[in-house]
Amino acid sequence: MEFISLVPTLACRTMTIASFHCAVCGRAYRADHPLWRCDCRGHLNLAPGRGFARGAIVAAEASLWRYAAGLALAGPPRVSLGEGWTPLVRRNWRGAEVHFKLESQMPTGSFKDRGTAVMLNHLIEVGVGPIHEDSSGNAGASIAAYAAAAGILCRVYVPAAAPRAKLVQIAAAGAELRRISGTRQDVTEAVLAATDESFYASHNWQPYFIEGTKTLAFELWEQLNFRVPDNILVPTGYGSNILGLERGFDELERSGEIAVRPRLFAVQAASCAAFAAAWTAGADRFVPFEAKPTVADGIATPRPVRIAEVLAALRHSRGGVVTVSEEEIAPALAALGRIGLFVEPTAATAGAALTQLLCDGTITTDQTTVVVLTGHGLKAADRIGELLGIGGE
Ligand SMILES: [Zn+2]
Repeated sequence: MEFISLVPTLACRTMTIASFHCAVCGRAYRADHPLWRCDCRGHLNLAPGRGFARGAIVAAEASLWRYAAGLALAGPPRVSLGEGWTPLVRRNWRGAEVHFKLESQMPTGSFKDRGTAVMLNHLIEVGVGPIHEDSSGNAGASIAAYAAAAGILCRVYVPAAAPRAKLVQIAAAGAELRRISGTRQDVTEAVLAATDESFYASHNWQPYFIEGTKTLAFELWEQLNFRVPDNILVPTGYGSNILGLERGFDELERSGEIAVRPRLFAVQAASCAAFAAAWTAGADRFVPFEAKPTVADGIATPRPVRIAEVLAALRHSRGGVVTVSEEEIAPALAALGRIGLFVEPTAATAGAALTQLLCDGTITTDQTTVVVLTGHGLKAADRIGELLGIGGE
């Protein structure tokens, strides 16, 4: 396999080997071999990064690899589809000037590419061969595309009833689709049974996925002329963007680049809101709740892996959790469309949350606010047509 060095100036950089720490038992591991969880079955987190300062930006690189010096990789990237450096556009929302971060304009149409690209480069560095993943949505499409670009065999486990459009995107990248009948839990069990055949490259378990999403913090800071916004709203299922933002801003703060952190608001569909259940209960861990179907399928996560870490990040930022009802999502989707932003229903939850926070005074028009739009509307065009009452003729 031949790889092209995209950031040759970094090729000779020496790196200390990153380490993982188990969130359950505290065991430490060197991040120099394939690993997706601790021997105790707990999830792993990367040790805090070394910090990042503006002098390390490779300004000529119009992708997230402009921040390569701040990533815990051993060398320059060996696979990229040009991910990152997405537009930050200003639009008026109910009288407020708001910055919309178009993560929907990634190579596979969702924010996942930020995490996938860095995760896959790490896995290549530690010698991973064939991989598998479980996702019926944007993460599956993302990992299938990056595995194709890297020449790595990829198998994606999906529920038998997964939406056709997303399955087509996964299969078009050449990934093997394994359709599993039954519940989401049945899919998870099929994945765990396959770990002897290939490496479980799970975007929800791999700490390097969050190492990738932290570049969202760097980008917002740079695109706002090296300032941080007051507020950031993010549709949240597992919370990888919240954790990436926390990690990125932490590194900027430790480098003396910023003095304050933005408030982070995790936006959830009220029908399936694990973080909201814990937040409302004042808990720092999972609180049982009733999960119902939601049109925001990308954030319908009944059991997030890093729930304690996400709740801590939200509290540390002085932000919170916002829930939006099913009835609020379609009007937000329509309003975003009318300002030129065609996104999937999951992403529209952030628009609905912004309306709430403006109305109750939590966010004011004199503040700088960023709304992260996580997925493109073309991924769910049929569903959007139904929601907005747009005919097919
Ligand atoms: Zn452990």
